[in-house]
Amino acid sequence: MITPFWTNIRYHGAVYLHSVDLWLDPRASREWAFVSHAHSDHVAAHQEAVLSPGTARLLAARDVMPRAAAVLPFGETRTVRGVACTLYPAGHILGSAQLLATVNGRSLLYSGDCKLRPNLVAEAIVIPRAEVLIMETTFGHRRYAFPPQEAVIAEMRAWVAAALADGATPVLMGYSLGKGQEILAALDGCGHEILLHASLYEMTRIAEELGATFPPYDRWAPGRGAGGVVLCPPHLRKWIRGKLPPHRAAIVSGWAFDPRARYRYGADAAFCLSDHADYQDLLTYVERVGPRRVYTVHGYAGAFAGDLRRLGYDAHALDQADQLELF
Ligand SMILES: [Zn+2]
Repeated sequence: MITPFWTNIRYHGAVYLHSVDLWLDPRASREWAFVSHAHSDHVAAHQEAVLSPGTARLLAARDVMPRAAAVLPFGETRTVRGVACTLYPAGHILGSAQLLATVNGRSLLYSGDCKLRPNLVAEAIVIPRAEVLIMETTFGHRRYAFPPQEAVIAEMRAWVAAALADGATPVLMGYSLGKGQEILAALDGCGHEILLHASLYEMTRIAEELGATFPPYDRWAPGRGAGGVVLCPPHLRKWIRGKLPPHRAAIVSGWAFDPRARYRYGADAAFCLSDHADYQDLLTYVERVGPRRVYTVHGYAGAFAGDLRRLGYDAHALDQADQLELF
């Protein structure tokens, strides 16, 4: 029988733990929130927030620090508003954290966005056990079986070398925080000049402050790029492509699993390197947490909860409204 303590869990645009009045990654400003990581879809200026030191540093750079912050190093437990909070690395981006919340010995784990495979830049995931689990299911459909990372990275490096041999500048598109740094790290030892768009450059400098190491790179400027590799965020692809010498563009994303992805991003190639767990890794995650009840959010929350029930778990999707939008 599940403890009644953690059963009053709601979804109103974000997960809300009613029994302790705590919001998890709300997009709107709230009185008290946990911010799992610094991606902009998880961030707002809250009154008080629990977050990791890495996330605090990245939020400060994005000018969205909460008024009061409980900055918790990984593995340290602190009681905030009556809840014993411990953060564990989530392996998604630098500073990304899972929250283990415990009240009267009853534990609840919130995954945030997470990745089980080694992240080339972020801290490796550490998975604690918990009684109740709230987890992201972005790629929670069984068709998402990501290829081995080493193979994807080898393909990407070969594509870069081939473009350069043909006299074209390879442009690799990934988000300015997280994926951009993983792409840069994946190019380690390639020997090419690597130029980063300003937004990616700024985030990479902060990542270095936080302890990450990268191959040599420089800031891209209009007109630069011939003979080198350019990294830029996907939303700037049209803007930057007008300012480059002859080039080829590739999108680097978990969504590249879909063979049509490159057309959606207006790219010549697509490489499936994700900073989220794929389907099998999500199942492994649940096994390792060993929860008595699971709540799923984001992406394929309904399908994944259904699969967990077939495996004998007490599992429920929290955000049906989100899913209706997806289908
Ligand atoms: Zn994220």
